[in-house]
Amino acid sequence: MVATTPTEISPMPRKMTRKNARVLFERLSQADPSPQTELFFKNPFTLVVAVALSAQATDEGVNKATKTLFQIADTPEKMAALGEKKLGGYIKTIGLWRNKAKNVILLSQKLIDEFDSIVPQTREELETLPGVGRKTANVVLNVAFGQPTMAVDTHIFRVGNRTGLAPGKNPLEVELGLEKIIPDDFMLHAHHWLILHGRYICKARKPECWRCGIEDLCGFTNKVMSDEKPKPKKAKKKLANTPKLRTTATKKSTKKKTVKRKAKI
Ligand code: SF4
Repeated sequence: MVATTPTEISPMPRKMTRKNARVLFERLSQADPSPQTELFFKNPFTLVVAVALSAQATDEGVNKATKTLFQIADTPEKMAALGEKKLGGYIKTIGLWRNKAKNVILLSQKLIDEFDSIVPQTREELETLPGVGRKTANVVLNVAFGQPTMAVDTHIFRVGNRTGLAPGKNPLEVELGLEKIIPDDFMLHAHHWLILHGRYICKARKPECWRCGIEDLCGFTNKVMSDEKPKPKKAKKKLANTPKLRTTATKKSTKKKTVKRKAKI
């Protein structure tokens, strides 16, 4: 964690101030000046394919499959020639592989037919490719073409909301909020800083706030300040022995039994 003088930080509001957002990105950039995508790719085309395959899958899982695939198919022509069935054989370990294989073949063919086999550099054009949505387009523009876009995935959505950087009900709201608050000079790498922070520190189930370098800037109200495992709960046993619960339950069952006995008589 980079030292910050108290005067640098104003009291934390729910929505983070621009001043604190700058401090936040200064710290993330100092900790990792040149963040990189963890997805394996060889050129803009293989990046489009890798990002399209990564939907609802881990980068690690995608890399295992694409390591071999991209050795034999790293251009739209080679990928289209492979065909859906053979491609499926390479990506079977990735979730939703059938649909993804279909889209990769279709997008390869579209690149050949309409873009001279060159990956376009605008979001609008990228979004016309099968299987490419706003998030994939933003990743490609940022990583392959160095554009300051913000692709909101599950990690960035969580971090944007928890910290108060850009609270939003859906990815687009968070994306637009982040674009507003992130200082221009940090925008190019902001996507990776936030993803890596969400993946390794601000984890979904148990955020590691006790070792988070931006903890004092973060507006999350349920911070986890210790890595100790919660002690096993004994409360359940106690609860079962409380007179009130026993009395209620016993009263009911006794009443029923009495009614039954009366009926028999
Ligand atoms: S303090 Fe906790 S909730 Fe806030 S960004 Fe850090 S890890 Fe996430």
